[in-house]
Amino acid sequence: MTALSGLRAVLFDRDDTIAYTDQAVYRDAARWAASRYGLDASHVGHVLAAVWADHTSPDRESSWWHLRTLSEEEAFWSEYGRELTRRLELPADAAPEWLARFPYEAYMKPVSGARDVLSALRTRGLKIGVLSNTLPSIDRTLVAVGLADLIDVAIATCAVGIHKPEPGAYHHAAATLGVEPREILFIDDKAENVAAARAVGMQARLIDLSGQDGDAIHSLAEVLDIVDARWEAVGQ
Ligand SMILES: [Mg+2]
Repeated sequence: MTALSGLRAVLFDRDDTIAYTDQAVYRDAARWAASRYGLDASHVGHVLAAVWADHTSPDRESSWWHLRTLSEEEAFWSEYGRELTRRLELPADAAPEWLARFPYEAYMKPVSGARDVLSALRTRGLKIGVLSNTLPSIDRTLVAVGLADLIDVAIATCAVGIHKPEPGAYHHAAATLGVEPREILFIDDKAENVAAARAVGMQARLIDLSGQDGDAIHSLAEVLDIVDARWEAVGQ
């Protein structure tokens, strides 16, 4: 029997694991806003990047890191929109229009093969979870990337108030999936998150979709290989 015995669930990170931020959408948003409001697209792109960097700084008191509810997140995006339009010297009513046209989830795309791999894992009887250090609106993002129907449990750490790599985030995910940590295979692109998962007893693998890290798997299809190898090893 291998170390991957007794598997009942696969728990994925979201960003750079099953989904990614498509930089082309930033360019689309900048071009759209430039055309809509008569601005220079390159200037809009710089301001977009600067306002986002400012709002995501962990030092910022109102950083997304501290948001707990969807209504708090809504207020956060409203403030973000106001700041964006203020820096571009646009009228305040441009903000809701902009955010409706390019909401947070519009920037995300599914990783190649994600639907096929998640479907295949489900046909093997495994539960599928997502544990992401992200805003409360995780469900909307998984709908946007076309994977929501394949995911049993989606956890935004903001809504829990505990982020990876804190052990509580992993224990919360295991309890929500209704399985023991040792029955979970956890996949994440950050080494510290993988190490923390192992520390709470999960089986875990690093994924590096850029193919650079020799210690990592390089595609989601390899998750299927890991699961199947474990089944062969236990004679199923
Ligand atoms: Mg990630």
